[in-house]
Amino acid sequence: MTLSTTPTGHDYAAALADVRARVHVAEAAAGRAGSGVQVLVATKAWDAAAAARAVAGGARLVGESKMQELADKGEALREAGAVVHVIGQLQRNKAAIAVEYAACVQTVDSLRLAERLSRLCLEAGRDLQVMIQVNVSGEESKAGVAPAEALDLAAAVQALPALEVVGFMTIGLNSPVEDEVRAGYRTLREIRDTALISSERGAIDLSTAWHLSMGMSNDLEWAIAEGATMVRVGTAVMGSRPSA
Ligand SMILES: *Cc1c(COP(=O)(O)O)cnc(C)c1O
Repeated sequence: MTLSTTPTGHDYAAALADVRARVHVAEAAAGRAGSGVQVLVATKAWDAAAAARAVAGGARLVGESKMQELADKGEALREAGAVVHVIGQLQRNKAAIAVEYAACVQTVDSLRLAERLSRLCLEAGRDLQVMIQVNVSGEESKAGVAPAEALDLAAAVQALPALEVVGFMTIGLNSPVEDEVRAGYRTLREIRDTALISSERGAIDLSTAWHLSMGMSNDLEWAIAEGATMVRVGTAVMGSRPSA
């Protein structure tokens, strides 16, 4: 696996400012001005130097998809002051890499994975934020728990030591049809809303699970319209990923 370095002359701060401007326009259009939607920069396929430059350009939240890449870049990201989220599928035998370098694992989609993370965190003497990944589109190819199972999984994960469920994450339908994409994002919001309302009533303990991580470079406006609290942006900040 060869990672790519910064394209000549690429201005991360300017690209990030453009994305933040898009976020602000989308927040206002959704009646959510000032709601503080966070921008997480997805650095997959980029090397440690490129990722560190993005952080220096203002990208404090960084998302890594592949654990081998995180193992390679983790120290540099830590030194740069990044807060790293795992946003790709996490196999249980790679969970230790996440526990070493990540502040949050957004891709918890099974209790077995959560139990492994919990055990590793107890050994390391640390806490870990997690999100529940939900497959809102039902596509076979997509990771994530089915919408109908998301709340039960979230409650079971919340009950584990050293883990805190901070919200829900999904990879949206890859489609140009706004209604179809937004319907998936709405499903995630409804799951989150049910978690918060049931927690208020004391039925479950998911009052910390308010994040909605959804939307990417191409559709962040649609995700923000449906309530995203965090968008995950790769190409719009880092530049086009060179094809492998
Ligand atoms: C790569 C990636 C992104 C960012 O995608 P872009 O289209 O480059 O913005 C967001 N989320 C996940 C899970 C990713 O793997």
